[in-house]
Amino acid sequence: MTIAGNIEKIRDRIAGAAGRTGRAPESVTLVAVTKTVGVDRIEEALDAGIQVLGENRVQEAKEKIPRIQRPVQWHLIGHLQTNKARQAAALFALIHSVDSVRVAQALDLEAAKQAKRVPVLLQVNISGEESKFGVEEEGVFELAQAVSGMGHLALKGLMTIPPFFENAEASRPVYRRLREMRDVATAWDLPGVEMQHLSMGMSHDYETAVEEGATLVRVGSAIFGERA
Ligand SMILES: *Cc1c(COP(=O)(O)O)cnc(C)c1O
Repeated sequence: MTIAGNIEKIRDRIAGAAGRTGRAPESVTLVAVTKTVGVDRIEEALDAGIQVLGENRVQEAKEKIPRIQRPVQWHLIGHLQTNKARQAAALFALIHSVDSVRVAQALDLEAAKQAKRVPVLLQVNISGEESKFGVEEEGVFELAQAVSGMGHLALKGLMTIPPFFENAEASRPVYRRLREMRDVATAWDLPGVEMQHLSMGMSHDYETAVEEGATLVRVGSAIFGERA
């Protein structure tokens, strides 16, 4: 399969999954995850209509971004450290992985210096154990409230990475839980917060995620092949 062929197949499946729950296919954005992927293959994905790219490391993104001379959005999907906050604020259109007040504060400070408001999602650790990163469910309110008060961040929703299950159905309870949390967080009605996004679903389970309400699916290997 070519990269274009893979993307077409994934788009069809996203449309199918969205349709099964009465949603429009356009309500889901396919984020092509380009970690370890070279510029030539990224260009192929862009030729096939991809408009959003996801990187999990700031350093790798910083090297690639200037080499892609196209109108494309870059998202940070991996863990953010405070010492990378300045670069992250400068490079990314959306940061999926804010998981502590400390990281949020660092990002807010750098965004202020750059005179911008950076859209962010809160990464939630639903499983509670398997994943190293992400705020625990019990901490989401406190973190959301803190981010709501930061003038240079805009809170746009939630993200999660479930433990890896071969069987996509096993991810469903995790994705359903994230959607329920998003609905609860919407009802908090925090100033400046619009909980429109659910970033969930990867190569092996994005259809399940879309059925459970994903608005952003992060797909790497199903587009570009297995990573080395
Ligand atoms: C690598 C990565 C993905 C994509 O994983 P695939 O299984 O290759 O689709 C999604 N989200 C995050 C946070 C990642 O690091």
